[in-house]
Amino acid sequence: MARPRQPPSPAFAEVRRELQQPWTITAGDADMMAERLHETAQLFDPFARKSGLILAGKNGYLVIPRPDVGCGVSGLVLDVLLVRPSNDDARWNLRVLHELAHARLDAAGPHHTHADVWALTLALAIPRHAYRRHHEARHVPRWVVTLRRQVAQVVARAA
Ligand SMILES: [Zn+2]
Repeated sequence: MARPRQPPSPAFAEVRRELQQPWTITAGDADMMAERLHETAQLFDPFARKSGLILAGKNGYLVIPRPDVGCGVSGLVLDVLLVRPSNDDARWNLRVLHELAHARLDAAGPHHTHADVWALTLALAIPRHAYRRHHEARHVPRWVVTLRRQVAQVVARAA
């Protein structure tokens, strides 16, 4: 008998909607920015449980858990990422990656969208050089892997 499908995460639907809003960067730009951060960090495993902390730390950011913050408030203090904690390791890691994406795009200029931030978040979670192993990723929620695959397919079709 087939296993009942899990109901889609509300976060999946929300981020999917955000990704359908206008981008000011291309998926290729997001890939390149993510690759640069990964090159600096030299993670032994891009799918490490704490990939966000390692990426942020090796790129000069201090990560501070703050229960009272939403996303995108980092950058008020230079090189500090304020991230809402989570008891779920994968969700916490995703939040760190997302704040790192906010910080990098803020540093690149004021004119970007939240769709850009999510595009970069996905590329940081599953960088191009590790994409062929995306199905092994357990360091972020599964819906992140699904979205990364969907974006990659759209890009491949457009090429
Ligand atoms: Zn955000």
